Amino acid sequence: MKRRIFISLFILSAISIGITSALVSFIMYSEFYKEMRIEVKQEAKYVAAAANIDSKAFLADVDRISKDRITWIDAQGNVLYDSEENIANMDNHADRPEVKQALLSGEGDSVRMSATLGEQTFYYAIKLNDESIIRVANTKSNVYATLAECLPYVLLVCLFMLFITIFVAKKQTKSIVLPINTMDLEKPLSNDIYDEFAPLLRKLDQQNKTIADTYSALKAERKEFASITENMNEGLLILNAGGEVLFANQKVMNIFSKSREKNTGGHYLTLNRSSEFREAVEEALLGEPSERRLKQNGRCYQLMATPTYENGTENDTELQLSGAVVLVLDITEKEEADKMRREFSSNVSHELKTPLTSISGYAEIMEAGIVKPEDIADFAGKIHTEAKRLIALVADIMKLSKLDEGTIELVPEEVDLRRLAQEVVERLSSQAASLKVSMTFEGPKGPILVKGVRTMLDEMIYNLCENAIKYNHEGGNVTVIVEPAADHHQALLKVSDTGIGIPIEHQDRIFERFYRVDKSHSKETGGTGLGLSIVKHVAKYHQAEIKLESQEGKGTTISVTF
Ligand code: ADP
Repeated sequence: MKRRIFISLFILSAISIGITSALVSFIMYSEFYKEMRIEVKQEAKYVAAAANIDSKAFLADVDRISKDRITWIDAQGNVLYDSEENIANMDNHADRPEVKQALLSGEGDSVRMSATLGEQTFYYAIKLNDESIIRVANTKSNVYATLAECLPYVLLVCLFMLFITIFVAKKQTKSIVLPINTMDLEKPLSNDIYDEFAPLLRKLDQQNKTIADTYSALKAERKEFASITENMNEGLLILNAGGEVLFANQKVMNIFSKSREKNTGGHYLTLNRSSEFREAVEEALLGEPSERRLKQNGRCYQLMATPTYENGTENDTELQLSGAVVLVLDITEKEEADKMRREFSSNVSHELKTPLTSISGYAEIMEAGIVKPEDIADFAGKIHTEAKRLIALVADIMKLSKLDEGTIELVPEEVDLRRLAQEVVERLSSQAASLKVSMTFEGPKGPILVKGVRTMLDEMIYNLCENAIKYNHEGGNVTVIVEPAADHHQALLKVSDTGIGIPIEHQDRIFERFYRVDKSHSKETGGTGLGLSIVKHVAKYHQAEIKLESQEGKGTTISVTF
């Protein structure tokens, strides 16, 4: 722009200088011409005055004095003298307009091509007293010569003016451009420059506002997107049609054990190379939604890959595949729960079948009448025992499934764990006594409050104490301790026995449903194999921690920290 303004200013000035010089030259020329005519007239008058006195003597000397051409013509038109030409070569001049005019009126002039000089010439003729004519002539080339003498000066002035123009144009350009260069584009309306810029500045201001609004809207959208994607529990991966990662949330990076900086922007295979992942993504990139299961770091994930589309050109209504979105769901717990449920169902049917088969067997024998009358009571007793087991089993199954489904009415309240444990100990004391096991309760004087569901906590303590009695020796001990717990915990419940203990290899599994260390012993004591599962469930609900310490043959201690 600076260059353009400078060049424009320079050209403008150069044209003005050129035109001015031409006009000046033209004016000078016409002035010189006018001057020349006046001079010629003046000279003619002087020459005529002198010639009237003594024409011959004067004319003999005149070519020394005058630079103009002087001709002397008689009244018949014969040339008597010419300061520049040999008169012998000259024809009669009576027909020359200035001569004719002078003969008639005393003086005459004319401008024409000179036959003698061959140039555009100005003639002025004056009639002398003796009727002859004195004529003075000057050519235009003399005017040009005078002009030519002045031209170098004119050119010099032009050159000087051009230098000045360059200097001024440079300065002007700078001063025109400076306010534009120093314009504050952040706050266009604060600029006080050319009025012509006002619409532009207003437009700029408007655009700045639009940009700021759009930017903040985009920022808010981005923030929203980030907070959604970063807080979601699922891994989210967005790919372009070429399989490049456009976005990957932190969760997906954690799942694939990758650091974010390294992998965003790379190819999707740099995240995971498993065939399941590859197949799911490839199918989606071919336009087919797909699902796969992926085992990764001991966890199970469901991959859901969906193709994404976008409009091609503006006029193109057909959608074009733009990439894929992959959702990675952690379904480990769901898988485990499904597996557990499947196993539970098959275990339940098996567990129910056993006592039912026994009952049915005893009843069949009794029905056939092959049982001696004295054995009937024994058989009925066996049926009764099996039926009781069946009832206990069904009760436990119901409890567990209610806990699983969460259909039990759970009303958390402040429960005095100390009192509850004491009540359970009292309830079980006769059962303990019948097995010759002594029970002791240890607790502080005051209440130990725990926020929880009373019935569930009761069930938990009961099952722990019952096991401690069941899996004990004759003359063994069961100690139930309730005390306040350290480190922000509410309470500690400890059930210890001096019983048979649990072999180390079974300790991890006894909380599983229907798991028993010794199946026959459990059955003998009326166990269902579900007692500890219920304990585990109740502890989980109360966010309590279970700790098992056991030594085979020495005894078991189960502690629950609330
Ligand atoms: P059960 O109805 O068989 O007692 P549980 O779920 O209560 O079922 O216990 C699972 C298994 O854990 C029992 O069969 C038993 O083998 C073992 N067990 C539980 N408590 C004790 C304990 N205090 N001492 C020894 N073994 C125990």
